[in-house]
Amino acid sequence: PVPVITIDGPSGSGKGTVTQMLARRLGWHLLDSGALYRLTALAAVRQGVSFDDHAGLVQVAASLDVRFEPTPAGEPVRVVLSGEDVTREIRTEAAGDNASKVAVVPAVREALLQRQRDFRQAPGLVADGRDMGTVIFPDAPTKIFLTASAEERAERRYRQLKEAGHDVKIDALLDEIRARDDRDMNRSAAPLKPADDAQVIDSTGLSIEEVLEKVMAASGQ
Ligand code: C5P
Repeated sequence: PVPVITIDGPSGSGKGTVTQMLARRLGWHLLDSGALYRLTALAAVRQGVSFDDHAGLVQVAASLDVRFEPTPAGEPVRVVLSGEDVTREIRTEAAGDNASKVAVVPAVREALLQRQRDFRQAPGLVADGRDMGTVIFPDAPTKIFLTASAEERAERRYRQLKEAGHDVKIDALLDEIRARDDRDMNRSAAPLKPADDAQVIDSTGLSIEEVLEKVMAASGQ
């Protein structure tokens, strides 16, 4: 089977950046599963489908017309929804919050399952999410669970948003991160937790390069 490295963890743990750097270094494909939940929520809003309308959400998830287009090193992958570049739009705090609301619906997760598994193509896949090691790729030979303290994750997010020119308050970010952790960890469908065979890496106080080295070592690469 095609090798997979799963990188799960809470928002702000650095897994998005580490996944992109690792996929690039290995020359493997990348799955940003969070983007699929963000896109489902965005498409639902645009189509006027309420988050309470589970059948409607499933329809939206199953019919998502999305392309992930490669970009030069250091730039985020371009995300195109129904022909429109939504790369920036799906990265806002509101989009993440909406994503975690549609992600609690088991039928939505089911509707996105095969689409995620289809990313597993030679020579290999690095998959970023919450349930990559537990649900989507349970047979992955390497599973990483990346954590960091909520305070550090809020701090990182704050710096990212400031750099992008957004006006944000760190206390509000910390509250949002805690609320999202709570929703992700306590839902019944695929709650956020390390797979039994995952290697847990705490990135608190580490630079992104240091985290990447640890992940490479853990994956035997
Ligand atoms: O990783 P990202 O912040 O983009 O994910 C947004 C939200 O989508 C998460 O807070 C989580 O609720 C949901 N998600 C999920 N399962 C995944 C990836 C993301 O439930 N595999």
